[in-house]
Parts: sequence; C-alpha cells; structure tokens
Amino acid sequence: MRVLISGGAGFLASHLTDLLLEQGHDVVGVDNFITGKADNIRHLEGNARYKFIKHDVIEPLKIDGTIDRIYHMASPASPIGYVKHQIATVKVNSQGTWNLLELSLEKKARFLMASTSECYGDPTINPQKEDYWGNVNPIGMRSMYDEPKRFSEACTMAYHRERGADTRIIRIFNTYGPRMDPYDGRVVISFIRQALNDEPLTVFGEGKQTRSLCYVSDLVRGINLTMESDFHEPINLGNPDEITILDIAKEVLSLIPTSKSKITHQPMPPDDPRVRCPDITRAKQILGWTPTVSRREGLKKMIDFYRDQLTKPAAAAAK
Ligand code: NAD
Ligand code: UDP
Repeated sequence: MRVLISGGAGFLASHLTDLLLEQGHDVVGVDNFITGKADNIRHLEGNARYKFIKHDVIEPLKIDGTIDRIYHMASPASPIGYVKHQIATVKVNSQGTWNLLELSLEKKARFLMASTSECYGDPTINPQKEDYWGNVNPIGMRSMYDEPKRFSEACTMAYHRERGADTRIIRIFNTYGPRMDPYDGRVVISFIRQALNDEPLTVFGEGKQTRSLCYVSDLVRGINLTMESDFHEPINLGNPDEITILDIAKEVLSLIPTSKSKITHQPMPPDDPRVRCPDITRAKQILGWTPTVSRREGLKKMIDFYRDQLTKPAAAAAK
C-alpha cells in the first residue's frame, strides 16, 4: 500500500513509518517541523519507498498518485509544545483534520485520527473506558489541545456517518521511547535527561498524580492494528500499568545508579490530570492487542539510547 503519515518527522510517526516500511509499504511523510525533527527521519534518506513532503497540513494537500491509508499524527503533543503553539495546535486538530478527511474521500483512503487520553481531561473515573465522556476545562491551559482533539473525533465521526469515510480513531495514552524531544518537557524524557546530567529531577506537586506509560514499539503496533481493523469508534491504546510521578522519578534514578541527581519539587501546573490509566479491554477484544514491554525494560532501552547524546557537552551543543 501507499501510506500517508501527517506529522511524519515526529516521535511516534517516525516509529510508525519504520514499522510500515518493514511491512513492505511505501510511505509518504508530511511535516512542517513545528515540533518534529529531521533527525527522526534521517535514517530514511535514500530509501526509495520513502518520500518526505515539507508541508503544513492546515493548508490543503495536493498529492499525486494513489493513497490507501492516511494516519493523521500531526500535532504538538507536549504540554509545553501546545501552550507555546496554541493556535497552530487548535488549527492542526481542526482544519488539519478536516483537510485530511477530505483527502481521504478524494483518494478513497482509509483515515486514522490520532486522538488522545486528554479527551478525558481530569477524569472522575479511573481507569478510563472509551464510553466515558470526560471532564475537560474548555478554556484552561490544556484546552487548545484537548478541545480540538475532541472536535477531531466529532469531525471524523461526521465524515464517517454522512460521507461514508472509512475512519478509525485511537486515544493514545502517555507513550515514551527513543526520538522524543529531550527538551519538550514530557515527564519520562525530562527525568532521563536530568538524571543523566546529574541535575535535580523536577517532580511537579507532591508527585502523587498518576500516569500509565506505554513503550513506543507497543504503541505503534496498536496503531497499525487499529488501522487494519474494521472498528470505527475510539480505541484506547496505552499500558495500564499505573504509577505515580514520584515513583517514576525514583525508578529512573534506580536505573541510572551513577547519577548524582536528587528529586526536587516544583509547583503543579494548572489542570494537570490527577489520574490517568487506560482501560484496554476494547483493544484486547477487537485488536487482540496488549502491551508487552515492561516499564523497566522500556526505560532501560530509552536510557541506553540517550546516554551518549545527553551528556552535558552534547546537550549544550544541541540546545
Ligand atoms: P511530536 O511532536 O514528536 O510529533 C508531532 C509531529 O507533527 C511533529 O513532527 C510536528 O512537527 C508535526 N506537526 C504539527 N503540526 C503540523 C502541521 N500543521 N503540519 C504538518 N506537521 C505538523 O509528538 P508525538 O508524541 O509523536 O505525537 C504524535 C501524535 O500523537 C500527536 O497527534 C499527538 O497529539 C498524539 N499523542 C501522542 C501521545 C504521546 O504520548 N506521545 C499521547 C497522546 C496523543
Ligand atoms: N511532570 C513532572 N515533572 C516534569 C514533567 C512532568 O512532575 O518535569 C508531571 C506532570 O505534572 C504530569 C505528568 O508528569 O502530571 C505527565 O506530564 P507530561 O508532560 O509527560 O504529560 P501529560 O500526561 O501531563 O500530558
């Protein structure tokens, strides 16, 4: 197949690209580099089955030839990233979604929307099932991300119901692994960078808030299985192994025993969800998917990836 991936130079999309190329498909990556990096796709240079188009999907995309699948992965994804690029985040998850749904109709391509656990906001039930409607502050400091992602889900379902678009929706829970931007402020990469540099690990609040961390190889396998399923409603993808942020900090330190870092506490950002854990019953039943990489194993792989490039001189050069 010929597969288009928006946000192709991003963390998740670059791993998804590798998986699809391994499966023998041709891939067209589209990105405007607002938060992604050319380094994430450097290894694909010279690959005849990979094509890169620098383009902002807020603008309609003209593309020659057939397209069989469209994965809409483009969007700033870290709280720092989407607050820095508020309007671009709103637009890529509204006009961008709309444009790619139109393209999917034009090309008769199947469309997958990369939505998020942020649709559940600060959830009042834990774990979160897909039929939970969420608890989102529509004007808060996460609203420029949460509400347009919710709009994207609504838009995707409208195109499916009224125009017969062949669509899929995934709600991705916190995912980590190599190729995350070391400075985008997300918790796992921040703690690893800090620990490798003997800097304090910045736990926000008391660190009692929870997250559930999925390793990237598990996640992209789930994304691909969803695309190839015949299920149109949202599917949670994430690892249900829930842990407090303070315990993540301790676990990272235990895996880098040479680190001289200590844990420090900083103020809790506004609207930070107090709990987050996916109920993955639907993914198990419909996709036969379950994560296989333990947090300890995944963190070790990620630390190994960053050990050389995040030592102090390299990090200073990269900044
Ligand atoms: P990322 O920032 O590494 O990747 C996103 C990519 O989209 C970047 O390369 C960026 O430059 C590109 N992009 C943004 N706006 C664009 C536009 N208008 N046109 C073209 N390209 C654009 O983030 P990620 O973690 O890989 O996230 C990928 C997707 O998965 C996002 O849609 C995000 O909302 C979703 N998601 C990720 C997580 C996670 O834990 N990583 C959790 C929930 C949802
Ligand atoms: N967090 C933290 N220290 C950091 C970065 C994040 O304590 O340096 C916390 C943050 O407050 C949140 C959790 O870790 O409760 C996950 O944050 P992240 O930015 O990775 O993603 P979120 O799940 O909040 O979108």
